[in-house]
Amino acid sequence: MIHHELETAFSIDTSAIKFGPGVTREIGYEVARMGAKRVMVVTDPRMAKLEPVSVVLDSLRAEGIDAVLFDQVEVEPTDESFKEAIEFASNGSFDAFISVGGGSSIDTAKAANLYSTYPADFLTYVNAPIGQGEPVPGPLKPHVAVPTTSGTGSETTGVAIFDLLEMKAKTGLAHRALRPTMGIVDPENSRTLPGMVTACSGFDVLCHGLESYTAMPFSHREAPPNPGLRPSYQGSNPISDVWATRAIEMVSHNMVSAVKDAEDIESRSNMMLAATFAGVGFGNAGCHLPHGMSYPVSGMVREYVPDGYPDDHPIVPHGMSVILNAPAVFRCVCLKSRTAR
Ligand SMILES: [Zn+2]
Repeated sequence: MIHHELETAFSIDTSAIKFGPGVTREIGYEVARMGAKRVMVVTDPRMAKLEPVSVVLDSLRAEGIDAVLFDQVEVEPTDESFKEAIEFASNGSFDAFISVGGGSSIDTAKAANLYSTYPADFLTYVNAPIGQGEPVPGPLKPHVAVPTTSGTGSETTGVAIFDLLEMKAKTGLAHRALRPTMGIVDPENSRTLPGMVTACSGFDVLCHGLESYTAMPFSHREAPPNPGLRPSYQGSNPISDVWATRAIEMVSHNMVSAVKDAEDIESRSNMMLAATFAGVGFGNAGCHLPHGMSYPVSGMVREYVPDGYPDDHPIVPHGMSVILNAPAVFRCVCLKSRTAR
């Protein structure tokens, strides 16, 4: 076999996506089709009281599926809140997972699915160097994600982010097996979002697009000794570029109006689609400095409680911590690409 010095291959993986106003009502049909009989519905306490969750529960129950609600997801989850969901999942004999909410709920469901399917010490699958970075041993149970924010794109990626409290560090789990089976992207679900949440998640989408488009090209990375060692974040490539650039365009046309007016369904709908587009791009290409530099920003929060977020603990929302360093990074990236020409 010939060993190339530099990488010559890339791949694009993504979840199945169902998009459209009202598609949440079809979740029972989709989950029944997957053969699931008893499912864990993962959400946060605020969302648990809102319409998207009741629509999901009604649709599942109408198909005769035993749907058990877990509503203790923490916004910007921690190892502690992940472990609570994992314990619930481990004791529940579930055959599928449904997440309803922002990236926090979707990521928590990924962790609950992983550790209840392949039990292990918590740090086993956590990214190195903080954890051991062991690969996921095999396929997970079906996971259908219903995003209600237009940001993380977590419904299309194999990544789950959390704060490791004892180290005050943000880290995560990353493996293609963690990618949800299906994303149900329903613009009606973003109507409940406060303006500040729409703004922060919009900045997150923008950075996913910009970072995956300007990430080091896959062909500049050294080829792995075997295909199993190819990273899931492979670098920018011709296919992820299409998704990234389209997402950036959609954000530029819709973000301001979506933030200003919750009833502007067209803008909010386009922002949700943009989040999913960007997710397909960065879920394969990866992000770089603004995301990397966001983790110390959010990890060092002392007392900041932004409007529109739960007021029981201080947080710097993910999108806000990402956008903070972005202007400096992109000034530098642009300068470099100009001098390289
Ligand atoms: Zn992000």
